Amino acid sequence: MSKSLDEKICIVGSGPSGMSAAWYLQKKGYTDITILERLDRVGGKCNTPKFDGKYYEMGAVIALPTYYKSLALMDEAGIEYIHKKIVGNYFDNNTGKSINYFTEDEMREIKVQIAKLQNLIETKYPDIKNPGHEKVHLDLADTFENFCIKNEIPLIPKLWVNPYTGYGYGYFNLVPAAYVLQYLDVPTMMGFINKDFIVWKEGTESIWNQLNAKLNKKVRLCTHIKNIIRKNNKVYVYTDFGMEEYDKIIFSSPLQDLKDYVDTTEDETNLFSKITYMEFYNFACLVENSRNTSAYVPGNMMQSRAGHVVFSYDRTDEGNSIITFNILGDQNEKVTSDMCREYLEEDLELYNIHLKDVVMHKCWRYFPHVNSQQMKHGWYDKVEGLQGQKNTYYAGEIMSFSDIEECVAYSNSLVDRFF
Ligand SMILES: Cc1cc2nc3c(=O)[nH]c(=O)nc-3n(C[C@H](O)[C@H](O)[C@H](O)COP(=O)(O)OP(=O)(O)OC[C@H]3O[C@@H](n4cnc5c(N)ncnc54)[C@H](O)[C@@H]3O)c2cc1C
Repeated sequence: MSKSLDEKICIVGSGPSGMSAAWYLQKKGYTDITILERLDRVGGKCNTPKFDGKYYEMGAVIALPTYYKSLALMDEAGIEYIHKKIVGNYFDNNTGKSINYFTEDEMREIKVQIAKLQNLIETKYPDIKNPGHEKVHLDLADTFENFCIKNEIPLIPKLWVNPYTGYGYGYFNLVPAAYVLQYLDVPTMMGFINKDFIVWKEGTESIWNQLNAKLNKKVRLCTHIKNIIRKNNKVYVYTDFGMEEYDKIIFSSPLQDLKDYVDTTEDETNLFSKITYMEFYNFACLVENSRNTSAYVPGNMMQSRAGHVVFSYDRTDEGNSIITFNILGDQNEKVTSDMCREYLEEDLELYNIHLKDVVMHKCWRYFPHVNSQQMKHGWYDKVEGLQGQKNTYYAGEIMSFSDIEECVAYSNSLVDRFF
């Protein structure tokens, strides 16, 4: 594989994965990098609109001090961030009242189980924080629920579920442990416990806008890719404005969509058809009598309660009038958008919060992943084995995990390994 720095490289998508891949390539000395983005803004699921002069988050919200790669990237690029303690609460899904989540006995026991999990990770699964899931340990391909039962750490899911299912990443009886622990290792969980968060003055979208300003070649927005053909050791990209020739292409856009506009091989089509995702709703609301608190609703974090509010983010303490409410659907798509809107109203009534208006709502196609069976049968080894074939590389959420840190860390390792 040649590694000439003047190769023309195309990156599809300007979310954290695509933007950081471009940054690392530029740092390595690559001079001709083009990012094609279909929307009219950069940032992907880092999406920060403005209301009444204040920013609010429709997508990603926070980072933690353990987001080592992304914070290092921001330091290098001169992107400022703010450490902030965000007060959180737990609401009961039946009474709507705030609750003490753990009993005193459980508090003592959870400390023992966290230490046990940390010891397990250090001794048996030390590679869990490495980007990607190649050669994943078979124990970790099992669901997180089974993993915790087998290892006799039954209280761990009760603590882990809030920043996991509450943040839209699916249900523990279905999701392989490898995903859960790659994102929520013990130090990251401690960041949540200590409410030790990182935010940005103008929101998460501003990270990628600022990074765009530092790229030699800016993201090309509103680009509709009609077709991509890979032949004669080149990559031909057809947009509404003609054909462009590249030497290599990196997809950070959803891999399950490639069949619609790329000359995918049988292997690609087959592997990417196994990807599944969650529907994660965000309702940006104007309310009366907000409780001035961000809150988890643990009782809604199971499949039977899909469609109900799992998490709310309240920044009225900063003078923001919008509160966002997150709702998780289910993989079988039994919960419709209408139902989520209905449940939202019911839930807010229960929490004694008066909904005045919804100013924006979105349903994100979220947390692309494969199930335990696919993981056990080497889905990741097969996709990693395709890296570089047909001058094509894969990045993005599916390759590691759907949070900013794991996406940035994966793009960093991709550039290190192949460019
Ligand atoms: C409600 C919500 C809350 C979240 N909270 C957090 C959080 O607090 N902390 C955290 O770390 N993460 C959080 N995340 C997750 C985080 O935002 C994502 O993991 C991250 O943005 C994924 O980056 P990505 O670049 O892989 O994908 P994306 O951000 O999805 O970016 C992909 C880009 O590709 C573009 N694209 C797609 N198809 C095409 C095409 N055919 N042609 C051109 N461009 C295309 C898309 O428009 C998009 O801009 C949250 C996400 C959501 C939705």
